[in-house]
Amino acid sequence: MSQDVNVFVEIQNDEIRKVTPQLVTAGRPLAEARGGKLRGILIGKGSERLAPEAAKLGFDHVVFVDDASLAEYSSEGYASAIVGAMQELKGVLLVGNTSIGKDIGPGIAQRLGLGMVSDVVNTESTGEKPSFKRPIYAGKAYETIEIQEEDYVLSIRANSYPSAEPSATAAEVKKLDIPLGAEKLRTTVKEVVERAAGKVDLTEADIVVSGGMGVKGPEGFDTLRPLCDVLGAALGSSRAAVLAGFIHPSHQVGQTGKTVSPSLYIACGISGAIQHKAGMSTSKCIVAINTDPDAPIFEIADYGIVGDLFEVVPALTEEFKKLLS
Ligand SMILES: Cc1cc2nc3c(=O)[nH]c(=O)nc-3n(C[C@H](O)[C@H](O)[C@H](O)COP(=O)(O)OP(=O)(O)OC[C@H]3O[C@@H](n4cnc5c(N)ncnc54)[C@H](O)[C@@H]3O)c2cc1C
Repeated sequence: MSQDVNVFVEIQNDEIRKVTPQLVTAGRPLAEARGGKLRGILIGKGSERLAPEAAKLGFDHVVFVDDASLAEYSSEGYASAIVGAMQELKGVLLVGNTSIGKDIGPGIAQRLGLGMVSDVVNTESTGEKPSFKRPIYAGKAYETIEIQEEDYVLSIRANSYPSAEPSATAAEVKKLDIPLGAEKLRTTVKEVVERAAGKVDLTEADIVVSGGMGVKGPEGFDTLRPLCDVLGAALGSSRAAVLAGFIHPSHQVGQTGKTVSPSLYIACGISGAIQHKAGMSTSKCIVAINTDPDAPIFEIADYGIVGDLFEVVPALTEEFKKLLS
């Protein structure tokens, strides 16, 4: 039994993802309540290179598993590496509720024989046993789940916690030798073909500007792009806009798309169907621009603008340009 709390340090395109310092914020009080340490676990071929950077994120310790079989992400390979690490380190494991975290979290929990709570937005326990809050019914309600055992796995929704301040002193870094080897994996990633991504990652963005059927066509998104550029925002969309062929599916926010939780979500020409709200209702501030004053999106909006997005968005862009220049 270990009191420690371990955080999976997610790496993407040779960089530590923004969700990691948020997990440090979420994990620190859990580690303190257990009287344990907070540890970062890096996985991947060449992960040693990023260990010094991880060591300054606010962890007490950092370990890395560096193996040739982890050159490309695979759920089997990464899960095996983390399970191997956790069998040695023990304790609690936190992962981001990112596509990778969602992919490997449940399998790791099952292999370690631990309970798991996914998509957690609040880790403050309400009773004697650890309990965690998560949205359910497409964000219409929250439930609190109590864990009966000492150790568990959590996936934490991105942007639910602020990023921890980097620490002045670096944590101790250690290599973990976990026997892996490509021959043990039943699947091998042969090739990854990357699509040209947007400038800002949607799931980690602090500001998201999204368009729906109100943009009228693919070129309608060109009205939103300058606003994204001025605000440093990621571009999102409703599913209807995706199905209509206005924009690539990777931009879709919602129940069957991406879950976002930015500081600011600007919904342009989106009616606010429950399936769309499921992916964005935990945004800290929601601004809705819609010609229909009765659009359901206004029910959850902090600020509503009843108007034509083709007039409102360029006007907003100009004002933000002046304010932010
Ligand atoms: C199983 C399932 C899963 C789904 N998953 C998702 C999902 O993940 N994400 C998602 O988004 N949807 C999802 N949907 C679809 C969802 O139910 C809605 O159909 C969709 O969200 C509607 O998209 P929209 O708001 O862009 O379009 P609409 O509902 O057609 O709304 C368009 C809005 O634009 C406004 N508008 C029109 N012109 C202008 C203008 N010039 N300026 C300003 N406003 C204007 C209109 O007043 C209207 O409110 C799912 C549905 C199902 C059944």
